Amino acid sequence: MDVTASPPPPPAASPAPLLRAASALMRVNHRPDLVFVRGVGSWLWDQHGRRYLDFVQGWAVNALGHAATAVVEAVREQSSRLLHSGPGYHNDRAIELAALLARLSGLDQVFFTNNGAEANEGAIKLARKYGRVHRQGAFEIITFEHGFHGRTLATMSASGKPGFDRLFAPQVRGFPKARLNHLGSVEACRSDRTVGVMLELVQGEAGVIEADVAFVQALRRWCDEHALLLIVDEVQTGIGRTGSLFAYERHGIRPDIVTLGKGLGGGVPIGAVLAREPVCCFEPGDQGGTFNGNPLVCAAALAVLGEVSRPQFLAKVQRRGERLRHGLVARNLGEVHGSGLLQAVRLPDGDSAAAIAHAALHPPHGQPGLLVNAVRADKLRLMPALNCTDEEIDQALDLLSIARARSRR
Ligand SMILES: *Cc1c(COP(=O)(O)O)cnc(C)c1O
Repeated sequence: MDVTASPPPPPAASPAPLLRAASALMRVNHRPDLVFVRGVGSWLWDQHGRRYLDFVQGWAVNALGHAATAVVEAVREQSSRLLHSGPGYHNDRAIELAALLARLSGLDQVFFTNNGAEANEGAIKLARKYGRVHRQGAFEIITFEHGFHGRTLATMSASGKPGFDRLFAPQVRGFPKARLNHLGSVEACRSDRTVGVMLELVQGEAGVIEADVAFVQALRRWCDEHALLLIVDEVQTGIGRTGSLFAYERHGIRPDIVTLGKGLGGGVPIGAVLAREPVCCFEPGDQGGTFNGNPLVCAAALAVLGEVSRPQFLAKVQRRGERLRHGLVARNLGEVHGSGLLQAVRLPDGDSAAAIAHAALHPPHGQPGLLVNAVRADKLRLMPALNCTDEEIDQALDLLSIARARSRR
């Protein structure tokens, strides 16, 4: 994208009072002293008109980058036609999106949510209902150390993030923890209370740790053997992020339940639970939510899928992923993990990720900034727009190398 040709951002009213006013926001995060006011494609502008190459994209959310024409047009058109009709009635967009997701995934039915955590919460409820109806009340779901499934009480309990177990104790019970890529540890968690297994195929928040293809295939067979549900959390990996529309396609399996979020709406909040027909045991009254299947967000998701589900688009994501990987290796930044456009680099000199991310965000005068995520003390995660250009990838790699050099001084 030719950013020099795009119009300058609107002048911020007065930057300093804006940041001071941020004290009215509860502090749940260490946020840098920047206020973003505008974005186009891979680029963001702050309140001073400085520009940044965005390789975080709202946490792997803006699949098509900032202000993508397809999403903007879909939201514009839908917002003037029908914004919301409520969960007690059908709307055309929700019906279209459910049918499209069912066709693309090979699963049968869909329940829409507002985000990823709610999708996983819905998947947990669906599995527990299935256990009550079909498995003599089995309710436990085996989950994994270092996994991340969201921030509701149940999804925090399902997560294996260190510290989550004590933060808002007591936890929701029924989520024994196994080790990723270790089937024996999964088997050790199994009892007659077990109804399923839930995992991420790439543990994104843990630092981009991939589940082995052989492990996932063995897990699928093991679930079939014991009549257990395989639940795959594709909130981060889904919608083209790893180079296939769903990551499970690369593992050659079909899950029983799949959850989506992040990239699905291309920047608007929507999640989804997809399930195979025999698993769909919710009855009227079991599950719901005021905004679920809201036509505005469904229209945005239809626009995103219209682009991302095209085979040529996904082939380009794979090529861009290769370019990013080779660039990280060529610049000697460290060991690279991940696939497609969900990658992390492990820094050889230890706990330098935060310092490098900080230096990238605060470049020398006249240089653009770069947004990258210090996902671990020694790991930087990159999750650019799926349609970023080769030049943007190369520029991000250059900015990252410069930031590393500056952070050492
Ligand atoms: C981000 C994420 C979630 C939570 O999604 P929210 O939209 O933040 O609720 C769940 N699972 C995975 C794998 C995620 O990356």
